Amino acid sequence: MDFLSDHAEESKILSGGTDLLISARNGVLESKYLVDVSRLEELRQVSVDQTRLTIGSALTFSEIVRNSTIQKFAPALIRASGQVGSLQIRNAGTLGGNVANASPAADSVPALMIHDAHVILISSGFEYSEPLSSFVTGAYRTNLKPGSIIKAFSLEIFPRGFRCAYNRIARRRSLSISRAGAAAMGFLDTDGIITDLRLSLSSISPQPARMTVVEKYLIGRAPRSQLIFEAAQTVADEMVRISGERPSFVYKKPAVVGLTIKTLEEMFLD
Ligand SMILES: Cc1cc2nc3c(=O)[nH]c(=O)nc-3n(C[C@H](O)[C@H](O)[C@H](O)COP(=O)(O)OP(=O)(O)OC[C@H]3O[C@@H](n4cnc5c(N)ncnc54)[C@H](O)[C@@H]3O)c2cc1C
Repeated sequence: MDFLSDHAEESKILSGGTDLLISARNGVLESKYLVDVSRLEELRQVSVDQTRLTIGSALTFSEIVRNSTIQKFAPALIRASGQVGSLQIRNAGTLGGNVANASPAADSVPALMIHDAHVILISSGFEYSEPLSSFVTGAYRTNLKPGSIIKAFSLEIFPRGFRCAYNRIARRRSLSISRAGAAAMGFLDTDGIITDLRLSLSSISPQPARMTVVEKYLIGRAPRSQLIFEAAQTVADEMVRISGERPSFVYKKPAVVGLTIKTLEEMFLD
């Protein structure tokens, strides 16, 4: 940490290297020093208290998938982590690196967003936290300051009885980077009415976001197929509202609608 503080401007943090080493190979890495943080015990802890689950940034996707505490409290993150790339990528790639890289298609981000995740950072020996929604400022851009490091992520814990799901669209079934992912968490009461819902999709906006318009639309109603279809159309409308019409949306809109339907139906109707 001291080395990082003393050489903040000349250093780049290295975790699993699955993104960074590609940048190095492409000649776009200009830092003098690479500081490997992947074995720092401080960054590898998982803990839980009454309200929040804390997951160390240096945990690889494979370690997340195997962790029984994360399995219990954040099953959508387990689903998302289990679908990242290939086994080799999951064995090396970390949660911290996935968020710091800030790809709009990052699989972990929607699964963290439904937990109202905060990023816990260390800078010059001081620890502070920031909501994930503002930490990522755009595509491949974050608020991370030189010399700062992501220590962990703090996730809100849901009360008993929650349902959740994660699905994604990728180019190919295996070894492919996600094109869009959808994470959801919801509650049904004894009459089958949605009493709470959180929905977040990747690749919809440059910054991580929850689909609050859709959440409000569905809360207080019974999740029938027609209603879910209408909600999914609203997600596609939101995408256009945020980014404007684009030629690729001819394909992307039906894909996003299908992804949202699959995720909400899996959560509420299966
Ligand atoms: C073939 C292939 C398939 C892939 N498939 C997927 C996929 O399906 N889904 C998906 O979401 N991603 C995918 N990825 C992307 C990649 O694996 C992830 O983004 C990975 O999680 C990055 O983590 P890392 O530990 O390898 O980060 P690194 O490559 O080590 O670092 C990435 C960036 O994060 C910074 N960083 C790393 N750790 C920290 C920290 N603790 N604090 C501050 N900054 C930090 C680095 O400085 C760098 O800027 C794929 C990549 C490849 C090569």
